[in-house]
Amino acid sequence: MKNRSIRHPEGMPSMVYADANGQIFDLPGLKMIGRSGHEVSPLQKDDLIPLPEGSELFVLPGTLPLGWDADRDEVVVFDGGQCGLKGPVQAVAAFMAPGYTQTAMAPFFHETRDHDPLPLFSYTAVGWWRGRFWVAGFRSDPDPRQDFRSFRPRVVREKTLKKLKRFRSNRLVQHLGRCSLTYGCPAARNFFMERWEAPIPTSPACNARCIGCISHQPKGGPPATQDRIRFVPSTEEVVELAVSHIARAGRGGIVSFGQGCEGEPLLQWELLVRSIRKIRQRTGHGTVNLNTNASVPDAVQPLVEAGLDSMRISMNSSRKRYYEAYYRPKGFIQDDVLRTWKTMKQLGKFVSLNLFILPGLTDEMEEIDRLSGLIDRFGLDLIQLRNHNIDPDWYLNSIGYRKAGRTVGIKGMVRILKERFPWLRFGYFNPRLNGGRLR
Ligand code: SF4
Repeated sequence: MKNRSIRHPEGMPSMVYADANGQIFDLPGLKMIGRSGHEVSPLQKDDLIPLPEGSELFVLPGTLPLGWDADRDEVVVFDGGQCGLKGPVQAVAAFMAPGYTQTAMAPFFHETRDHDPLPLFSYTAVGWWRGRFWVAGFRSDPDPRQDFRSFRPRVVREKTLKKLKRFRSNRLVQHLGRCSLTYGCPAARNFFMERWEAPIPTSPACNARCIGCISHQPKGGPPATQDRIRFVPSTEEVVELAVSHIARAGRGGIVSFGQGCEGEPLLQWELLVRSIRKIRQRTGHGTVNLNTNASVPDAVQPLVEAGLDSMRISMNSSRKRYYEAYYRPKGFIQDDVLRTWKTMKQLGKFVSLNLFILPGLTDEMEEIDRLSGLIDRFGLDLIQLRNHNIDPDWYLNSIGYRKAGRTVGIKGMVRILKERFPWLRFGYFNPRLNGGRLR
């Protein structure tokens, strides 16, 4: 049975839990529920989709699952005792595949107060119904570039090793080889597969100290999920990689500065200007994109003059207090980020927001109104709905989150923004552009 045909479950899935060995079971007596901010509540069936291919299931040590007792109309913390289970039980969460956005997080209860933060992944609500797992989310981008079935490990390995030989003196290609073979980074793998979007990391340093930084974590924090690049590549190394990718991937090829395995690329803006100018001297095809924390507004004009096509600005929240509490910026403030955004639009360039989705915070009307105000002032082309890869308790407590009024759900947020800004696009990936316009 093709899973793409199944949209939503006919009945509400059961809660799932794991035993001490990490074996996952469903508990028909309790229904799956979801978390938004610090609140848990029953879910709607049309909020649930089959667990996407390429997703992972995580067992959360030191936590207890929560479920819904429909007969008694209440939330239940399940510790196994309710059905005579010996030994600890643990909560389960889903880490959805790229291209899918969560609408509710997995509810769990920490057994101890002094627990370490969970690793830097998103923890989406998951349940079981009629032979399969269901998650609270939706496909936010139909683009297959990071789909599980787009990568056959043997082919990826062969193509990676072949290109590593061909570019043996290019340190950047060698760095991406490790990302492809060790971390399985889909962007690095697409470079070696010569298609879609290729990554160009350039910066070992950053001018922010994001609480959930995936490439650098201080002692006591969760482990960083990937190592940061340790060198600044030369212009020649950047240009060689970019031009060869665009030549192989064709007009639809994208090269993107600003990756998970580096600090902030704008700290190397002169290198980016030199590189983009040379790339554009050698090819007019493809899209040259920059993923950034947008902290250096004065770099925008020279980058655009060199040939930059688009910029993706990362943001956990448009609200200054939550933004600065999360980014812990060094030498810049949110106003600098907003000036970068404004300047890119004034120069007629394509701007996306990489909005970290956390149900309960992102869909608060206060957040939506603040974001709408900024879109009204500066304009915007696309919002990328990326799940925030972070332990929600650790994150919300660290930024001093206080519930501020009504939430409307992540899908509700998209609906409201679409009504307010009909041209605004929503997705998950950087788009292919043609002369600055969507292809
Ligand atoms: S801006 Fe990026 S690299 Fe810098 S601290 Fe934040 S997540 Fe890490």
